[in-house]
Amino acid sequence: MKLIDGRKTAELIKEEIKKEIAGMIDKNDKSPHLAAVLVGDDPASQTYVSGKEKACKKVGMMSSVYKHPANISEKELLEVVDFLNGDPEIDGFIVQLPLPDHINEQKVIEAIDPRKDVDGFHPVNLGRMITGMPAYIPATPLGIMTLLERYEIETEGKNCVVIGRSNIVGTPVGILMSRKSDPGNATVTLCHSKTENLKDIAAQADIIIAAIGKAGSVTADMVKKDAVVIDVGIHRIKSNQTKTGYKLVGDVDFDRVSKKCSYITPVPGGVGPMTIISLLTNTLKASKKEIYG
Ligand code: NAP
Repeated sequence: MKLIDGRKTAELIKEEIKKEIAGMIDKNDKSPHLAAVLVGDDPASQTYVSGKEKACKKVGMMSSVYKHPANISEKELLEVVDFLNGDPEIDGFIVQLPLPDHINEQKVIEAIDPRKDVDGFHPVNLGRMITGMPAYIPATPLGIMTLLERYEIETEGKNCVVIGRSNIVGTPVGILMSRKSDPGNATVTLCHSKTENLKDIAAQADIIIAAIGKAGSVTADMVKKDAVVIDVGIHRIKSNQTKTGYKLVGDVDFDRVSKKCSYITPVPGGVGPMTIISLLTNTLKASKKEIYG
């Protein structure tokens, strides 16, 4: 079994982005600028946004965070989005999800100018992705495809089972894997909570992508020998093996599955680090106007 090292791959891409930005600055071009809108004080959202800020700093990208209290109205939030859409200094921005219940998330996503939608959640970008046009690809699916590409994992003609159909992970990665591209050209089965015989379906897969949100739910009996396993899940569980009393695990029963498969992404250090770097990749594309010209 070989580990797919997301941390190392993300570091390599970070260096590539850093070099490219240094080149832009040498030519007196402005460095790319990513903004994030953060609503409320959810600790996980705060951690994600500060991780994004730190990553920007490391590659020489500018970053700004627009913090708003949880009681901001939908109208006020839409005004913030409108302001960022029109600000020529900002190349791309994200609205950190989830938003408080009184705000319609979809309405906010649809208010973002698709040219600045570096999260790739806007229906225009999703539609362009489906039809194979240039588009911002959501960061986690882009990170997964990049790992498959950099590890030269053959996907063409392979049987790929994606477990989970969320708009941010399962559905887009299923589309990307089935697209006429490399990586891609796989025969994809998209499974979800209503799928019958999940175990039998998964056991046929050459490639399993698990984005379920349930710790250890992909067990060794669901995995064919020498399959490739991509674990998207992240869970903080209690552990007496660490000083903090917690450890991070994925959707896959790593200890047993890793003995059977050919490649696997660990948690932590697999898909996670690729998500932030993919957001930076999208922001760099936005500043170079690569997608929309
Ligand atoms: P989500 O929106 O909760 O979607 C979970 C999907 O799994 C749903 O489609 C659900 O089916 C399906 N599902 C739930 N239980 C199932 C079961 N027993 N059998 C088959 N399918 C089942 O989750 P998400 O946002 O896609 O995230 C999934 C996991 O990835 C989470 O652990 C999340 O923390 C992690 N994540 C990691 C990263 C990263 O950077 N590494 C990024 C995003 C998410 P239904 O549609 O029928 O409900």
